[in-house]
Amino acid sequence: MGVAGKKTTQQEIRIMNKEIKIEELSSYKHGDTLSDLALALIKQQIASWELPARNYQALQGVEVKELKVSGLTMKVQFNSSRIVSSSAKVDAKSIRERKCFLCSDHLPQQQKGLLFEDAYLILVNPFPIFTKHLTIPALKHTDQLIRFRLGDMLELSRSLYDFVIFYNGPKCGASAPDHMHFQAGNKGFMPLEKDWDQLYRAQAVPVVSQPDITVSRLPGYHHAMLVLESEDKNAILAWFEKIYTLLPVLQDEPEPMMNLLCRYEEGTWTLWVFPRKLHRPRQYFAEGDDNLLISPASVDLGGVFITPLEKDFRKISAADIEDILGQISLDAADFEELCKNL
Ligand SMILES: [Zn+2]
Repeated sequence: MGVAGKKTTQQEIRIMNKEIKIEELSSYKHGDTLSDLALALIKQQIASWELPARNYQALQGVEVKELKVSGLTMKVQFNSSRIVSSSAKVDAKSIRERKCFLCSDHLPQQQKGLLFEDAYLILVNPFPIFTKHLTIPALKHTDQLIRFRLGDMLELSRSLYDFVIFYNGPKCGASAPDHMHFQAGNKGFMPLEKDWDQLYRAQAVPVVSQPDITVSRLPGYHHAMLVLESEDKNAILAWFEKIYTLLPVLQDEPEPMMNLLCRYEEGTWTLWVFPRKLHRPRQYFAEGDDNLLISPASVDLGGVFITPLEKDFRKISAADIEDILGQISLDAADFEELCKNL
């Protein structure tokens, strides 16, 4: 085979230059999976790039406290490097005026990635919450929208099986609403994973129970959460589509507001869906003592609240978290309606 055929465009060449060469991953062994390669990439990037080196080192010393919020375990992490994300300006004007930091052309020179299905670049997140934290932007600069992308999310979670994949809606914590991206963090870090397996699944109420899928919810209403579990990708896609179309779309929103967490384990996908109604809680905008710089996203809903400011870490209480979850989640009445109509 010669090199004739499809010509590589300049654009493609630039993207390919952001790709890591296998031989640069010192811990690479023949037969490694994509998940192994992603772990090797994180090592390589920490060893060769100062920004993640510093932030992953700092992460080892971050303070964490644990709170019980209506029986749910919630950790609070004081993580000052997350100020960039928590305070990100995501209004249309600010987005238009800034350089997109997820476009391949604008990635820092040291940043390298793994290609996923010629559609996404798997990158180390240089501002970690997890000890292994990835950002997974689409190669193309295109809006952050989940419809027609959930299949990619399911495939990512199967390929990156050491990680939980998450999606933040454009007004639900995503700091780049104009550039489609997922994130991934090492399994076992968010309390919800273990709590779901060991505690909540047994108490959960089935909303849909079919041979190929269950959709369930917790009894009562803490905050809106639906959990889809299936070995069948198409069943998850079909039921997610149904949930998606039943959810309200608020004025000026491009899609129903939501956060998603997804993992693949022993042949089964678990997809946690958190329908939302508000981007940032009242406390985010409050003055003085009432202020809490918290902009909840998937990881917070998975049970790790991130406070970039020490004052907030010290004072935040279980009651504050309960109040914030109540403000941002789909209302109890709307959630009941959704469950009834499924
Ligand atoms: Zn972009």
